[in-house]
Amino acid sequence: MLFLYFKRKQVFDPLALVMAATIIDLEPLYYMLIGEALDHQIWHGYALSLTVYPVLISLTVYSVERVFNERLWSTYNSLRLKPTKIRYSMLSIFLSSLIGSFSHILFDMFTHESLPYVIYPLAFGSNPFYIGQFSGIVEVAVVTLASYSLICWVRSNKNEKSLQ
Ligand SMILES: [Zn+2]
Repeated sequence: MLFLYFKRKQVFDPLALVMAATIIDLEPLYYMLIGEALDHQIWHGYALSLTVYPVLISLTVYSVERVFNERLWSTYNSLRLKPTKIRYSMLSIFLSSLIGSFSHILFDMFTHESLPYVIYPLAFGSNPFYIGQFSGIVEVAVVTLASYSLICWVRSNKNEKSLQ
C-alpha cells in the first residue's frame, strides 16, 4: 500500500503503512516457531486488527518518529523515499496503520483457508471468505499493487533527476 505515500506524502505515513501491514505476521511466525499448527489466530481478525492493533502500531510509530527523527531522515533518504517530513500527526499515523492492517487481513481473508478468527466474535471456525483455487487472483492483485508502489517509487526518483 506504499503507493499511497507516493501519491500523498503529506497524508500517508510510510512507516505506519509498512509496520501495520507486516508486524501482524509475527503472529503466524510465532506459532510456526513454537510448532502450533493453527498459526493464524486472534490477531488475524477484524475485531483486533481494526482496533487494538492499529492503536498499538500508532503509538509505536508516533514515538519512533519523535525519538529517532534524525535516523529516519537518513534511512528514508537512503531508501530514496524523498521524504517531505518524518513526524506525522496522530491522525495520519492512525489512518495509515488502519489501511495497512485492513489490507493485510483483506488479502489474507481470501487466500488463507484457516483463518478462524476473521470475523470473530460474529462467527468462529471456518473462514467463509476463502476462495480456494481462485485465491491466485488475489495474489495477482497483491503483486500488481506492490509493482505499482515500485513504479511510483521509481517515478518519484526520475522526476527528481529531471528537475536537476
Ligand atoms: Zn497474515
